[in-house]
Order: sequence, then C-alpha cells, then structure tokens
Amino acid sequence: MRLRRRDFVRGTAGAFAALPLAGLPLPGCSSRSGEDATVFRGGVVLPVDAGFSEHSALLIRGNLVERVGSDEEVLAAAGAGARVVDLDGRTVLPGFIEPHMHFLLLAGLGHLEDIGAFERPTFEDTLAALREIRDAAAATGPDAWVMGRQFDPIQLEPPRDLTTRELDELAPDRPVFVLNASGHIAYVNSRALDLAGITRDSPDPPGGEYGRYPDGSPNGVLYGSSAHMPVLANNPEIEARLQGEFVEAGIGVGEAASALGITTLCDQATGAIGGPAELARYREMYAEGRMKTRLRAYLYEFDGPLWKDAGVRPGDGDPLLRVSGLKLVTDGSNQGFTGRQREPYHTRDTLGLYYIEPDALREMVQRHGAQGWPLSLHGNGDAAIDSILDALEHARDQGVDVKALRCRIEHCSILHDEQIARIVELGMGPSFLINHVHYWGHVMRDLVFGPEKVELLDRCASVERAGAEWSMHTDAPISPLGSLHKIRVAVARDLWKEPETVLAPSERVSVEAAIRSITTNAAWQCHSEQEIGSLEPGKLADLVVLESDPRKVSPTAISDIRVSETWMDGRQVFGG
Ligand SMILES: [Zn+2]
Repeated sequence: MRLRRRDFVRGTAGAFAALPLAGLPLPGCSSRSGEDATVFRGGVVLPVDAGFSEHSALLIRGNLVERVGSDEEVLAAAGAGARVVDLDGRTVLPGFIEPHMHFLLLAGLGHLEDIGAFERPTFEDTLAALREIRDAAAATGPDAWVMGRQFDPIQLEPPRDLTTRELDELAPDRPVFVLNASGHIAYVNSRALDLAGITRDSPDPPGGEYGRYPDGSPNGVLYGSSAHMPVLANNPEIEARLQGEFVEAGIGVGEAASALGITTLCDQATGAIGGPAELARYREMYAEGRMKTRLRAYLYEFDGPLWKDAGVRPGDGDPLLRVSGLKLVTDGSNQGFTGRQREPYHTRDTLGLYYIEPDALREMVQRHGAQGWPLSLHGNGDAAIDSILDALEHARDQGVDVKALRCRIEHCSILHDEQIARIVELGMGPSFLINHVHYWGHVMRDLVFGPEKVELLDRCASVERAGAEWSMHTDAPISPLGSLHKIRVAVARDLWKEPETVLAPSERVSVEAAIRSITTNAAWQCHSEQEIGSLEPGKLADLVVLESDPRKVSPTAISDIRVSETWMDGRQVFGG
C-alpha cells in the first residue's frame, strides 16, 4: 500500500494534525533534462536485483533511480548537464537498511556512558566507571541520576549482577539506573526503587519480575521493561530528552547512521514510552529536511486499542516515515536467561520468561491479524518461537490470511529444523541479531546453551536454503549500529573473544546473501520493497559508495571497508 503524505496526516488526526509539513523534502521533479540527473561511473555498481547483476555506472534523476549500465549507456541516457561522480573503482550498493533498532533509546539514552565489557572488562572497572559518573552527577545537582548502559554481567568472569548492595553504597542519596546490554534488564539502587514505590510487598509486574533477596525484598535487578520502565519514568533528564530536546537528538541518530551507509532505520517498539505522541515526535524530525535517514516504525502494542484509537493504520505515512506494523514482545533475552526455552539453560535452572503467555499471544495475534496488522514478534528462546508459530497457525486456521501479513520473528535466535519449515509455510521472515554470534558466541556456548544447542544460533544459511526472506539487525543500542560488520559476521561467524573459532560454520552465508539480507530482504520485512532496498528503475535513490567491493576482501576485513559516500532520496548526506 502506498499512501501520500496527506493520508498520513488524515489517518492520524489526533497525533499529527498540528505538525508543519511545508518544509518536508519533496520527491524530485520529473523534468527529463540532465540538470537534475547524477551519473555515477567508473566503478562497480551492484543494484542487488534478482540476478545480482554488476555494472560500472548508475543514473539517478531527482530522487529516483533511472538505470544502471555501462559508462557509455548511462552517460548517454543522462542528458546534457548531468552531474558526474567519478567512482574511481569504488563500489555502489543500495543504501543499507537497519531493520531492527530502537530509535528512542538511541536518541534518549545513547548519550549515557557505555560501561559494558567492551569498554570495562571487569566488575571493578564497572564500579569505577559508576563512581566517576556519580561524581559528575553530584556536580550537576542534587537530583541528578547516576546512569549507565551496556552493563553485561555475562561477559564478566565470573558473571555477576549489580544489586542494591553495591549501588546503595555507591550512591545512597540519589537514584542509580544501569541498563543491561540486552536492554531487557536494569539495575537500580534503593533510592530509585523508593521513587517508583517498589517494595517487598509489590507483586511482580505483568511480563516482568523484580529480583529479590531471600527475605523477599527487592534486590534492584529488574527483569523486563514492565519492571524497569516505570522506574525510568521518574527521571526528569530523560523526560527532557524525550520531549523538548528530542528532535535534535533524533537528527543526530540519523546523521550517525548515514555515516555508516544506512539510509533506512526501522524502529521496533515505537510508542513504548510515549504512546502515539512518539510517532508525532518522529514526524517533527523531518520538518526542516535535516533528517538523513528514512524511518520505518513497528508500533509497540499495549493491551488496549491504543493505535486504533489514535487512528493509525499499517502503511500510514510517506516514503520518509512510514508505519510498518505492530510489535509484540513474547519473551526476554537469552544471555540474560530470560528468553523462554524448551528446556532449562545450560548453567542456570530456569526456562526463562514468557512476557506474553501463549494463550494471550494466540488471542492477540488473531485479533491484530484480523485487522490487517503485519506483526513483528520478538522471540529469542525456542519455546517462545514455538508459541509464535502456534499463534500464527491458530490465526490462519481461524481464517486470517497470515501469509499476506508477512509477519517477522525478531532475533529468532534458536531455531530447530521443523520451526524453519513452519516459518516458510507461514510466509514469515526471521530477523537475526547477528552480533549475538560475534560478541556473545563464547558465552552462548559456555553458559547459556552448551556446545550442542549453540549450533542452532542464528541459522542464516539454513533459512536462506529454505527460501525465507531473512534479515540481520543490530538492535542498536543493544549492539552498535553498523551494516558492514553484520555482513562480516554472517560470512565469517568469528568470535570476538576467540578469533580462531568459527561458531556453527555450516551457517555461514555468501557475501551476496548477506548483502541481500540488509537491502532487499530488509525492505520486504519493513513492507517497503516497493520503494527501497535495490537500485532498480523507479525506486528511491538511496545508495552507499564503499571504498572496496565486499566480495573482494577477506571476510573479516569487510567490517573495515570505509564508507565513502551515502545518498538518501537523491541527495548526498555523507562524505565527499
Ligand atoms: Zn529490539
């Protein structure tokens, strides 16, 4: 479904009516003179079409791709006065699509200090970092919080949580909030618990859990966003970033992404904090034409008909900002031992958590499916993925055309063969957090799954062979944005801590398959393949110019290739 801009405004009257639209960058004019044409020539142009063809030149006119071909063909088609970009051997690909990231978290929390294992390898290093942050907060004012992100206990030796014991000692009189690298768990002190009214008598929230000491009092470890988001809601600084300062912070996220060759970001869980107003905030970023990436949105679904009441429908929007579907989160994080498994974890006697119980999920999938919503379903553990497949099959049996909805499974970390067959049968597309392999592969093997089950992690080659439209994501800020790094991991499957180890070598894919997964396949998963994902005639001119051809360097060197230029909507937004 393609909607014009006014449809977006009309369809979301409450949330969008007052937004300025006059300054939006408009599609390029349709003049056929060479003056609005740009020719890229003298390089390697890979449009990522069905045959993965290769050319030396590309012509764009206005904000659209017109053709690919030889230098001579493309120059002749361009017309007099066309701008010419000499590629000088560089490689052109479609702009990369990041199909699963968390825009608001990057904009709202991305400024917090990274105290994760890549920066701070020991528990003592973590505490030292928090002491520095505390001292800086003390200099700011009496109410300033102590905050950090990317804390990742499973990367420590031995693994160890932050609890109120350490955090109260560190900061007895001001709130502390530390987000786990998975984004699913937070660590807070007693002051933060007090502000949120969480006590020994507080029952666990739906879909979440308060970690507790043996006497039942909360220990400061908060499992699931339903447990930790209410704590964060008391933080005035974060509130300011999400309100008055949001537009600038969001434009900064787009700028950082464009420097990595990314031209479309797909937000997973739009509205999880601010409801429909969040979508209106996103629209404001485009008001002055400074935003350098497109945005696709999967809307976070609460219990109520939140989005229906706001008048929002799938496909609403325009080529810059478009609603893709609804997001449901069915379980937690495997490395946090909260992804829901068929059998207990390798080193911990727990099955993990269902954030949505299977019966409730069945009802939700059927209800939203009947209303025509494409669904993005977070499922990490194999039992959670079972519950997703069961729910989709149930909806299909009740008459919902689930194939037409093209639903996704997010992370889809552990997959058995029969689950892959069911995914294909249901017309679904898995999206893998491929950096799980590189950054967490060793702990997935040694602590989380054991040496056998870990072979089922992120099975790119198996789903490729089965014919599913799969993609790869970073889940940023969970792992760093970066598309070339994703290609490297899919092709090499090497481990950060053990460079010589290849995790599940049979799941390595070709460079071409990896490129497809973050261009054409990702566009399909964002319900935008009609406008982005390849450099075929008539599609929007989103492209990246790389210093080297990823097919011509060693797999582990792919992530070192320099992004030379990025173009979005026919204009250069990075490099040059
Ligand atoms: Zn996510």
